[in-house]
Amino acid sequence: MSGTILSVHDLEISFRTHNHVIHAVRGISFVLQEGETLAIVGESGSGKSVTAKSMMKLLPKRSTLINHGSIVYKGQDLLQYTAREMEKIRGKEISMVFQDPMTSLNPTMKVGKQVMEGLRKHQQISKRQAYERARELLALVGIPNATERMSAFPHEFSGGMRQRVVIAIALACHPKILIADEPTTALDVTIQAQILDLMKDLQQQVKTSIMLITHDLAVVANMAQRVAVMYAGEIVETGVVNEIFYKAKHPYTWGLLQSMPKMHQKGNVPLIPISGSPPDISKMHEGCPFAARCPYVMKVCHDYKPAYTTLSDTHSVACWLQDKRAPTVGHPVGVTSGGGHVDENH
Ligand code: SF4
Repeated sequence: MSGTILSVHDLEISFRTHNHVIHAVRGISFVLQEGETLAIVGESGSGKSVTAKSMMKLLPKRSTLINHGSIVYKGQDLLQYTAREMEKIRGKEISMVFQDPMTSLNPTMKVGKQVMEGLRKHQQISKRQAYERARELLALVGIPNATERMSAFPHEFSGGMRQRVVIAIALACHPKILIADEPTTALDVTIQAQILDLMKDLQQQVKTSIMLITHDLAVVANMAQRVAVMYAGEIVETGVVNEIFYKAKHPYTWGLLQSMPKMHQKGNVPLIPISGSPPDISKMHEGCPFAARCPYVMKVCHDYKPAYTTLSDTHSVACWLQDKRAPTVGHPVGVTSGGGHVDENH
């Protein structure tokens, strides 16, 4: 890894509805390093997909308000780009894979032609060269009989194969950044593992940085080097994978870890869901966004937003439990993922 390829600073995004303003992303900052996979994790409605779409300028223009912030790529703020400038970036420099492959594929166009389209748009190559390259790409992502499948339509592929096609299109022009928004959520577990392996392999070959949006920590463990945990439009904890899985400090991260199936546990070990539901982001108050669901909530949590505490060069958390006046709260000894408890001695 070397250098920052994308840097998001103090990004705040709202949506206007007929009688509300929804504060979907509330002042987030993070960086993506060259060649790394950064996972953005959180429940649905946490703002992770909105963040991803804002980087591609795919949010509905009429209802979206970018209140402030910047998304800097190669020294330029993408938020200032015109639609035409963005066209040159999308697919060539930054690509996106969505949960549902049919969102990206045209059901009425042959798959080969769809792969060729992106290539011809961004590269000065002949139709013949684009055909050859598209065929190679389909073979590369594991589509059997790639030559024949070039002339098949998306509905003739299984869900997993369609997602492979989408990945082929996304990586066709060797983008610097691939944003993958729940890329395997709609697929069954075996296919899920194959697609994740494929993405990892291709990342090595193409040297792309991946921003992986997911609600699934098992996917994170398999794919990412760093993790940002989002809740109610804010990043509440960020760290390298080991810090998040073994040294997490935010009660919401503990909750996510406790609700994740663990490989080493045998039998029917019940998963512990996070109680309560995410807050109504049209009515956010001061204070910690997790306060209503947090087992360790204190008075200060309702009144003031916790600042970030830096725990290492790579690990930071926004929680009042890091204040030196707070009770000591930590992981139960021997439990490596999930679950905080209050130390009774404090
Ligand atoms: Fe819980 Fe308070 Fe920490 Fe928020 S700041 S996560 S409410 S302890």
